[in-house]
Amino acid sequence: MKISLLGIDGGELGKENHAISFLVDDVLAIDAGGLLHAMKLKNLLKIDSVLISHTHIDHVKDLLLWGDLIFAQRPSIETHGAEDVLEAVRKHLFNWTIWPDFSSIPTKDNPVFKFIPHQRGDIFETIGYNVQSIEVNHSVPSSAFIVADKKDAILYSSDTTTTDDVWQVANIRDDLRVIFMEVSFPNRMQSVADASKHYSPKTLSEDLKKIKKDVPIYLYHIKPSVYDEVVAEIKEIQDDRIQIAEGKSTIKI
Ligand SMILES: [Zn+2]
Ligand SMILES: [Zn+2]
Repeated sequence: MKISLLGIDGGELGKENHAISFLVDDVLAIDAGGLLHAMKLKNLLKIDSVLISHTHIDHVKDLLLWGDLIFAQRPSIETHGAEDVLEAVRKHLFNWTIWPDFSSIPTKDNPVFKFIPHQRGDIFETIGYNVQSIEVNHSVPSSAFIVADKKDAILYSSDTTTTDDVWQVANIRDDLRVIFMEVSFPNRMQSVADASKHYSPKTLSEDLKKIKKDVPIYLYHIKPSVYDEVVAEIKEIQDDRIQIAEGKSTIKI
């Protein structure tokens, strides 16, 4: 499995910082916050499925112009999200005021994005991958995803603060090879992290005690305005599994 970290930042700034979008094996996107900056049209047309973790703009905004770019260029993209997430995307983004409803054009049967809702906790298949949705603890309903092919699995945390379910599920997945976990604000901004339900290095380090797996844990979603401060605090965490994700890098498992 090849995971391209196209956008890993909790915000956007200049050429360096792009909001969240990962791509598995060039065909399965996880979130669409920072996808388009990294793509050529021919690569974009190869993406057959996308998983949407939650409604926040840094995870969904590229759906809008993505739909416009590929309109009438390829078959429908399987678009998986919890039912409330897909409803909100349709109501607040694809509402014909902000943007056309690319979940219903050119036809309802064959739209650009074919919305396929699930319930948090569901396990489902998309384009040959097995996906497990796990509810996490964010300011809006949000889902982590475990994405697996026939032999390996990755865990994508989405946005969350202190939680149990995702760590419990990770502990019992024998095929889990790598974890991508969010951390957003430095410890001095703990009240902001708590209010917005994101991890700080402090709360993350406490939760890391819950995961028994000896797999790399790549940290992402750091806010660009406090990047150096968060990285310095991460480096103080005594855990050899931790790595800091690098934008535009590729991880092979
Ligand atoms: Zn969020
Ligand atoms: Zn986010």
